[in-house]
Amino acid sequence: MPFDAPRVSGPVERLFVVLGDQLDYQSELIHGLSEHDAVLMMEVREESEHVVTHHQRTVVFLSAMRHFCQHLQREDIRVEYVALDDDDNTHSFGSELERAIDRLDPASVEVVRPGSWRVLDMLSDAADDLSVHEDPHFLSTPQDFEDWASGRKALTMEYWYREMRKQHGILVSGDGKPEGGDWNYDKENRNAFKQAPKPPAPWTADADEITTEVHELVGEMLELEGAAELPRWPVTRQQALYQLDSFIKGSLPDFGQWQDAMWTGDALLWHSHLSPALNLKLLTPREVVDRAVDAYHRGDAPLNSVEGFVRQIIGWREFMRGIYWTQRKDYRDHNRLRARRELPEAYWTADSSMRCVQEAVRPVLTMGYSHHIQRLMITGNLALTAGVHPGAVRDWYLGMFVDGVDWVTTPNVVGMALYADGGVVATKPYAAGGGYVNRMSNYCSECRFNPRKRTGPDACPLTTLYWDFLARNRDDFEDNHRMGLMLKNLDRMEAPELEKVRDRAGEVQRAL
Ligand code: FAD
Repeated sequence: MPFDAPRVSGPVERLFVVLGDQLDYQSELIHGLSEHDAVLMMEVREESEHVVTHHQRTVVFLSAMRHFCQHLQREDIRVEYVALDDDDNTHSFGSELERAIDRLDPASVEVVRPGSWRVLDMLSDAADDLSVHEDPHFLSTPQDFEDWASGRKALTMEYWYREMRKQHGILVSGDGKPEGGDWNYDKENRNAFKQAPKPPAPWTADADEITTEVHELVGEMLELEGAAELPRWPVTRQQALYQLDSFIKGSLPDFGQWQDAMWTGDALLWHSHLSPALNLKLLTPREVVDRAVDAYHRGDAPLNSVEGFVRQIIGWREFMRGIYWTQRKDYRDHNRLRARRELPEAYWTADSSMRCVQEAVRPVLTMGYSHHIQRLMITGNLALTAGVHPGAVRDWYLGMFVDGVDWVTTPNVVGMALYADGGVVATKPYAAGGGYVNRMSNYCSECRFNPRKRTGPDACPLTTLYWDFLARNRDDFEDNHRMGLMLKNLDRMEAPELEKVRDRAGEVQRAL
């Protein structure tokens, strides 16, 4: 069925704003609206232009919105839908909400907590008495996180995660003990491939009429980055459920052991690729976790995989959201290590003499995705050790990944990858030289640089930058006991060798 943007006629009691990442087919808030109420959905240019954005990210959001709108109409919920090519569209959430209020004169304007401070501020400015509901999609609220965090010296994800397991009865026995006796099976989850891996074929969405139409419209109206191709990602709940099913049956059993591994030509491997569907809210974290735990109880997936997967969702995902909403609003602008450099051109082209950079950037350009270790230990690690400005890195991840939404992108970039928050998220910087990449992938065997060398023309740029990074920021790490060993190794380096590292780092920086 092609898409026809519906408009509302007649008076409106409650106007309920549904944003592109709030497509919650389970939401009682949205599904409880009456015939006197209406949903407002807006496709605006500003959301694809406030940071440089991937074509497929915009197509996925808009196509999923249009499908959700049709679902609401089938449920007899009235929708006021502003399409991207609507002649009267002012292309900003703030001005579009004002226009809708003028036209519909609702008694109340409501929204579920948006995915960013920026959008929350815009909507609050446009509607005087905006009511903001907590998002029922998540297992925890920002207040829950605040309560847990208050009085703690450090916010350690592992303790948050254990609390979540106990509170929600996930992989715990009746007396609150962890399933299998341990809270964490990471020791078993750090394998590297010894030969070319053969992962299960990943589930891929077929583009229907709506997605194809949106893809063409976006191509005509917006100038975006990345491959302007039809996306592989789910845009309906049905598709998201197929994707979940395919992951649970195909990849979950080996998810754990290959979680940190990398291999040339494959950015999907045994990862779930569920982040776009989860972040659009097509799936709930609870149902995803329940499916994984059921697979464990049926004997279809081992505990190290299931526990590792559950930790990503109820641990990291909820933790990052808690950080985002409970730190100060300017958290996204932190720059503790005073990094100033521009984002290397290779982040936009994948054109690099470093094999690992080609491998980690290419899938971002072709499909708006790379897996966690590529994000953290290649593109994140390079930006960290090269001293790229956190704002530039954050905006790249936010706009160029199909799963980019501020509440999750920002703490991952500013906190986890760049240590720009000075240690709120990570107890030490995730900085590594080429040795780590060589251990966890086959990238180096196909690269012209030598991961063991830090100086000379064939020295691995990551290895050079790692030592230069430690030397540059030594004072900032002095009091961090987790950095002790790294600093001791740095201090063993003779002055002339350090000088050579610095010279080589300058050359590497200029060539990036
Ligand atoms: P899997 O490996 O299959 O993990 C399962 C799920 O766990 C993911 O779908 C995701 O929902 C959740 N998860 C895992 N790790 C994290 C994490 N660190 N934070 C939050 N949730 C997590 N995730 C996003 O959803 N959006 C982003 O914009 C984003 N940007 C990132 C930027 C950087 C620099 C880094 C280091 C990580 C980022 N992440 C982001 C977190 C993580 O890399 C992705 O969630 C994951 O790679 C998505 O792929 P997947 O669904 O195959 O994950």
